[in-house]
Amino acid sequence: TSKGAGRGCFHIFEPGMTMETSHRSTIELELMTALNEDQFEVHYQPIVAIGEGRISGYEALVRWNHPKRGFITPDKFIPAAEETGFIVELDRWVLKQACRQMAGKDDRTTVSVNISAIGLLRQDLPDFIRATLNETGLSADRLEIEITETNKVEGKEAITILTAIRAMGVGIALDDFGTGFASLSYLIDLPVTRIKLDRRFISGVAESTRCLNIVLSTVSLARGLDISVTAEGVEYKEQLDLLRAAGCGSVQGYLLGRPQASFTEQYLGSSAA
Ligand code: C2E
Ligand code: MG
Ligand code: MG
Ligand code: MG
Repeated sequence: TSKGAGRGCFHIFEPGMTMETSHRSTIELELMTALNEDQFEVHYQPIVAIGEGRISGYEALVRWNHPKRGFITPDKFIPAAEETGFIVELDRWVLKQACRQMAGKDDRTTVSVNISAIGLLRQDLPDFIRATLNETGLSADRLEIEITETNKVEGKEAITILTAIRAMGVGIALDDFGTGFASLSYLIDLPVTRIKLDRRFISGVAESTRCLNIVLSTVSLARGLDISVTAEGVEYKEQLDLLRAAGCGSVQGYLLGRPQASFTEQYLGSSAA
């Protein structure tokens, strides 16, 4: 079979693994054990409001602090977590953790939590979010959920669920904007409050007129819809300057700060934003 077979039990990290894989139960068991044994950790990456030059919020990003392998990034285990359905439990754990930690922070910053499309189809998600807000004492307007464009979020059920979540005052961000297949129709059907412009457009913004024009158009589109735009993956000062000139509301990326185990007050490039 695969070359990983000789190196121990970590079949879970094989890309392209599917439901049909015979190791499916091993994966699920391993992920569940990790959750029970507190091996997951939430890291936070600052989101900086351009112009104000302050941190407006943080994105919660899960990491697996594996006893033998150290920190494992989400791209290595989210696909397996989605295939097994374990992602629903993991996302809720992250959400609760993020709300609890943000509630203890005495300011107006927000926390953004990624929710897999699979979890958006669970009818009790709005109730879970409401209960979590009550339990942690975080006000709804300090929470935002991030969803990505997939065919699963355009269904009627998902729209109903997202509408209920938005009605509580929780923000809804469309993540990786521009890389999906139905971006614009989502803006009609879903109660979106923010667009997160994918890193792909930002990485090319200084070199490519096409990328710059996509940024400018997205900013203008968002303005017309009265929603915000956050640029993802900002790594260079030159990109930040172009984004500021384009009228982009906020930025996130290694230039401003990497994901860290706690909320960081300082960020790189603070003098720049
Ligand atoms: P995302 O939601 O688009 O998160 C942004 C990703 O870009 C993060 O990767 C972040 O570390 C990375 N990033 C931030 N700034 C820069 C930059 O300047 N340059 C580059 N090259 N990368 C940057 P990460 O943490 O590895 O997460 C990858 C993806 O995994 C996330 O993409 C998200 O889709 C998913 N993910 C992470 N945590 C969760 C979670 O708790 N639940 C679910 N369902 N998905 C999650
Ligand atoms: Mg995200
Ligand atoms: Mg993204
Ligand atoms: Mg992404």
